[in-house]
Amino acid sequence: MFDKILIANRGEIALRIQRACKELGIATVAVHSTADADAMHVRLADESVCIGPPTARDSYLNIPAIISAAEVTDAEAIHPGYGFLSENADFAEKVLFSGFVFIGPNPETIRLMGDKISAKNAMIAAGIPCVPGNNDPLGDNAKKNLKLALEIGYPVIIKAAGGGGGRGMRTVHTEAALINAITMTKAEAGSAFGNSTVYMEKFLEDPRHIEFQVMADSHGNAIHLGERDCSLQRRHQKVLEEAPSPVLSPEERERMGGIVAKAMADMHYRGAGTIEFLWENGAFYFIEMNTRLQVEHPVTEAITGVDLVREQIRIADGKPLSVRQEDIEFNGHSIECRINAEDPWTFAPSPGLVSAYHPAGGMNVRVDSGLYAGYKIPPYYDSMIAKLIVKGRTREGCIMRLKRALEEMVINGVKTSIPLHQALMNEPDFIHGDYTIKWLEEWLAARAS
Ligand code: ADP
Repeated sequence: MFDKILIANRGEIALRIQRACKELGIATVAVHSTADADAMHVRLADESVCIGPPTARDSYLNIPAIISAAEVTDAEAIHPGYGFLSENADFAEKVLFSGFVFIGPNPETIRLMGDKISAKNAMIAAGIPCVPGNNDPLGDNAKKNLKLALEIGYPVIIKAAGGGGGRGMRTVHTEAALINAITMTKAEAGSAFGNSTVYMEKFLEDPRHIEFQVMADSHGNAIHLGERDCSLQRRHQKVLEEAPSPVLSPEERERMGGIVAKAMADMHYRGAGTIEFLWENGAFYFIEMNTRLQVEHPVTEAITGVDLVREQIRIADGKPLSVRQEDIEFNGHSIECRINAEDPWTFAPSPGLVSAYHPAGGMNVRVDSGLYAGYKIPPYYDSMIAKLIVKGRTREGCIMRLKRALEEMVINGVKTSIPLHQALMNEPDFIHGDYTIKWLEEWLAARAS
């Protein structure tokens, strides 16, 4: 097993990975920007290296600085976490060329799945159902594009092939709006992702977002760990996730999970991955694959008991999966609330000094966070400061526990999204699991008026 791993990330996920390393007896190296010198992920690491100024471009995205940090500390492997460089194929390639192990799939797979068009085509070839669309880059021929949209049927959505984080998409309801929408999305994609390629697919009007967790080793074994329902979204970004999905039967889980696991084995996938689907009227439509650990992975850990980060590290070290498909049992229900430092209703960021901090506790309550009293949340990065994950034997019990845990959480000095989650817990639609990807925005709009 590795002696030392460098974690190329910050915040709660850097801590999450450190914890897995420590439990495997592996030493950890933290990297940090000058703004994060006091961060918990730096304090708890065995060693740390400053890799640049606050701006992510100059620190957490600074590939030469991160590779040098691995060199000077003699780390053997690099875990990228999520976000930042986790799905950057060039980074994975440079890590390998520099003689380190990249904890994730190979660069070719990252590249293939990082382009949503090539990902869709690979999934079609693997027998996975996709959202109907053109599955090719859109050209400039207006007549052709209009014809294509008519064939798919309005509404359609124009999406950036290289998009991520819920950005780079535009819904089109009428023929009159199509050409302009393509031009605008191309321009935005070019400036945001450095890739102006866009494609067109059917806009599903009222689906749920259901994703499958997969894990595969380099010995040809691939398993699924069930699904997560991430339909509660604002601006295409997840706010709360749960496992299992309130709408999926055990038979459907087994059927669909079997299909995705087989596709991963056929593709010789390696490591942790998430296959994201939209689900409407009982049918699954693939939208994208994430070739990394997800923010919401703990709800899967809660109901399966499998430590996904530990598996990732073992797999990167060449070991086989420590569990077989038939060992995986789904027990109880788990929900994760993403707690952001922001106004719960206007969503304006609220960085600054945390004057008091007390995480919730008790049975089946997990808080993943780098917060401590006296910590100053820097304004430079993502606003997520904690994840509250609870488990119950039933969904109902899980919600009761979550209400209790949200009440216990104390984060003073900054505004947080805790009141938003508390309000959600009292909504009959949420309590009944009766929501789609539109639900949260409609509820927020109704609340504001
Ligand atoms: P990103 O990589 O930015 O997360 P995704 O392709 O995963 O983008 O889509 C994010 C979210 O955008 C989905 O969960 C869904 O809410 C919405 N979305 C994407 N494609 C469609 C579609 N064809 N129809 C309806 N909503 C969509």
